[in-house]
Amino acid sequence: MVDQLDKSSDQASQLPDRSSDLPSPNPPLSHDSSLGLGKSATPRWSIEASEETYRIKGWGEPYFAISANGHVTVSPKGDRGGSLDLVDLVHGLQKRNLQLPILIRFSDILADRIERLNACFAKAIARYSYEGRYKGVFPVKCNQQRHLVEKLVEFGAPFLFGLEAGSKPELMIGLALLNTPGALLICNGYKDQEYIETAILARRLGKTPIIVLEQADEVDMAIAASQKLGVKPILGIRAKLNSRGIGRWGTSAGDRAKFGLTMPEIVTAVDKLREAELLDSLQLLHFHIGSQISDISVIKDAIQEASQIYVQLSKLGAAMQYLDVGGGLGVDYDGSKTNFQASKNYNMQNYANDVVAGVKDACVPHQLAMPTLVSESGRAIASHQSVLIFDVLGTSEVVATQPEPARDDEDLIIRNLWETYESISPENCQEAYHDALKFKDDAISAFRLGYLSLTDRARAERLYWSCCEQIQAIARTLDTMPEHLAELEAAMSSIYYINLSIFQSAPDTWGIDQVFPVMPIHRLNEEPTQRGSLADLTCDSDGKIDQFIGTKSIKHLLELHSFKPEQPYYLGMFLNGAYQEIMGNLHNLFGDTNMVHIQLTPQGYEIEYVVKGDTMEEVLGYVQYSRENLVERVRKQTEVALQTNQMSIEESQRLLQNYEQSLGRYTYLSV
Ligand SMILES: *Cc1c(COP(=O)(O)O)cnc(C)c1O
Repeated sequence: MVDQLDKSSDQASQLPDRSSDLPSPNPPLSHDSSLGLGKSATPRWSIEASEETYRIKGWGEPYFAISANGHVTVSPKGDRGGSLDLVDLVHGLQKRNLQLPILIRFSDILADRIERLNACFAKAIARYSYEGRYKGVFPVKCNQQRHLVEKLVEFGAPFLFGLEAGSKPELMIGLALLNTPGALLICNGYKDQEYIETAILARRLGKTPIIVLEQADEVDMAIAASQKLGVKPILGIRAKLNSRGIGRWGTSAGDRAKFGLTMPEIVTAVDKLREAELLDSLQLLHFHIGSQISDISVIKDAIQEASQIYVQLSKLGAAMQYLDVGGGLGVDYDGSKTNFQASKNYNMQNYANDVVAGVKDACVPHQLAMPTLVSESGRAIASHQSVLIFDVLGTSEVVATQPEPARDDEDLIIRNLWETYESISPENCQEAYHDALKFKDDAISAFRLGYLSLTDRARAERLYWSCCEQIQAIARTLDTMPEHLAELEAAMSSIYYINLSIFQSAPDTWGIDQVFPVMPIHRLNEEPTQRGSLADLTCDSDGKIDQFIGTKSIKHLLELHSFKPEQPYYLGMFLNGAYQEIMGNLHNLFGDTNMVHIQLTPQGYEIEYVVKGDTMEEVLGYVQYSRENLVERVRKQTEVALQTNQMSIEESQRLLQNYEQSLGRYTYLSV
């Protein structure tokens, strides 16, 4: 695009300089580029314009920002000071032989999220004079990676923060790692006898496992296990609420939900427990109406309904002590603070206030002791702490070069296109666009019928793109973009090829159209002149990112800088610390990326852990290929080729050496 801007400067001299009468860009818009201003366009770009373009203040505060040199900075401790230049950090990692793509986890952000959540509940409890406390748990399914769970338990200990297991394997993690006396180990998910027995016996280790009955038959299993072991369990019941989440997880509640007991089932369960003299074991009520609840009113409704069930269970004689409001606390991925699916119309404090006030309101009229409040907030705790950094391998930018004037002996179509190109002005740009489009179609028809040579067709297409670039540059300066010219943005957009597999690193972008903030982490003091989508390394046409955060909408093109092959161009995907790692798959055999844990130190930072990404050998092993067998097969083929003189011995050694070395390497490309 830089080439084109140089070219258009002589065009621009014939045109009134519209930039002077443009309204001052406040707020600066991404479309604030003026026509053909060549290199002078860059200095007019500002950090504020980048902040606005990528909405970083909306989703990134207080952790991510842009510094004066145009780099993204990370303040892992939030408002409490200390920040790192993300680009310097990436360079530091590269010097340690850690290649991109790389997932960077910031332990301090994790600590900050836990503290924030607890502080919000503490504040709400004080504000409403709530006579109970808050004891959150982290749902392990959100991110089971050991280093993360270990850190979580460590940072959570002062708050008696516990863990929630949603399956047998997750129970194994919870049981082994949670060693905070008094913290809860919430046992959810499908259970068998062994699951229940293990959970009950954990009481003998001084832990507080709460077995949440999610299916009607689990009631009998829990009773049987308790009788067999002679140990009383702590039981909870998951209720199927009538209040539903909206959006993707809306069906997590209601009668047809996969988990939970209906009201008749709850009453039956209470009867059975009473009969087994275990009613005093029933201490917790749980509900979960879905993840990423974007609308606070849904949460309010659910709290109201659940609080009444809680009250009623107490009245029926259960020794109720805990109300567990499940997950759902959302993350503002697009920074819009709205009830749009990628956002939420409340903050953490509003959420805590509503939980605390709602439960209190239900207990007071019945003079019931207020329960310990539990939330299973996963997304809200784990999302911010990890950042995925990847590089761009190349682009398909449409770069029109300065066209040669049409000669009199050239085809009429070419002469028409040239004339159109020369006549483009702010007044006629829409008309010029339609003309150029028509002449290009004419050229293709003429070619098809044999009247135009390949060289002439190429010339016509090049002229067409030159027209488009010129028109686009003008269109971006207009206050409102004419409808047909908006489609030009799409037609002129580029594909940026990224060194990443979205199936491995951001599966929800593919699976459920999740949008994560994606932006360049440098050059942010420079205008992003390109509009592009991202295509990943897999040979799957779904392996792309073409949905980006916009204003209460999704946009399909991202503002990007012109790619210079000699210069690395780094992009970051943010807020992707929840669910992505474990849901990632090995499509095309791209394995786990490199991962590091970074902790802020007075000197800068320290790398606490490095988990190297998969090598090809490891990934191939998952699909039952062994290194020896593969190497041996290739070696045999080289022997045959040697016998038949298809290959020299040096070539065969070179091939085998490359092959063996590759097996030990990262599955991503080294740039
Ligand atoms: C998934 C899940 C959670 C976590 O939900 P978030 O919205 O990520 O906080 C909590 N509880 C249960 C039962 C879940 O299934």
